[in-house]
Amino acid sequence: MSHIAFIGLGNMGAPMAQNLLKAGHTLTVFDLQQAAIDKAVAAGARAAASAAAALTGAEVVISMLPASQHVESLYLGEQGLIARIAPGTLVIDCSTISPASARKVADAAAARGLDMIDAPVSGGVGGAVAGTLTFIVGGQAQALDRARPLLAQMGKNIFHAGGSGAGQTAKICNNMLLGILMAGTAEALALGVANGLDPAVLSDIMSKSSGRNWAIELYNPFPGVMPNVPAANGYAGGFGVDLMLKDLGLAAEAAMSTRASIPLGEMARNLYSMHSQHGAGGLDFSSILQLVQKR
Ligand code: NAD
Repeated sequence: MSHIAFIGLGNMGAPMAQNLLKAGHTLTVFDLQQAAIDKAVAAGARAAASAAAALTGAEVVISMLPASQHVESLYLGEQGLIARIAPGTLVIDCSTISPASARKVADAAAARGLDMIDAPVSGGVGGAVAGTLTFIVGGQAQALDRARPLLAQMGKNIFHAGGSGAGQTAKICNNMLLGILMAGTAEALALGVANGLDPAVLSDIMSKSSGRNWAIELYNPFPGVMPNVPAANGYAGGFGVDLMLKDLGLAAEAAMSTRASIPLGEMARNLYSMHSQHGAGGLDFSSILQLVQKR
């Protein structure tokens, strides 16, 4: 069993930390939100007063933060952890960030002789709770081998995409497709309903026809079709519109840097951007349905 410093206890980090506690590890946790720390303490974690304080005695550091700027500031900022982490500690960042940021932090870790991997996840909050996440890893194979037993306690699929940052590149490609699929699924459902169909009947039909996809089968955006998804709960929790917008922005950056064309990814980015500007940034991304729904 390991002693783990876990930083970032949001929609994803909180259930991931709980699964590590259930597996018997000891955790010292930190988040900017006291309520998130309190919840983890109720589940058996120890609280730290700062990210740096969480490092005491930790053999592994895991972070699950919103975006590149948060990760760079946590590891490389004024109170940056990279300069404070004890030699031999394994560092795992599970946030979805730009490949360039992931490489920058990993290079600083390597310069201090620390093993670090980028290990963004797929599978949503449901996957984080159930411990069935997919980890998409970038970094040295030997660092991944050290991390594998812990990742297996939070997920069921572990892929090695390549060197540092490669996990992020693969994750960005996946999420661009997810953003497109969710927008397309919402559009198809809204069209059917506007033309008199029952969304549950149409969902059932499309789930067993060629329009089948993850959004329609497991994360239906239409309220009332499926229990236990954000659409059943006023689009609370889940994967925020602004986080999807961030990932589509990362896809646009990756496309620009290589002159790749992503016409549908750019269209999806504009749709989520409009939706966010209408005040939906904090809702789950399946609320994109509201943008195309006939009022
Ligand atoms: P979230 O906004 O719910 O949680 C982020 C947490 O990080 C918050 O509790 C916040 O207070 C904390 N935080 C921010 N800066 C901090 C700092 N400097 N120190 C300590 N805590 C800090 O986000 P989330 O939905 O949990 O997503 C986290 C990451 O996982 C994002 O990169 C997201 O793109 C990715 N992701 C999310 C999902 C999903 O379904 N929610 C799925 C896959 C990947």
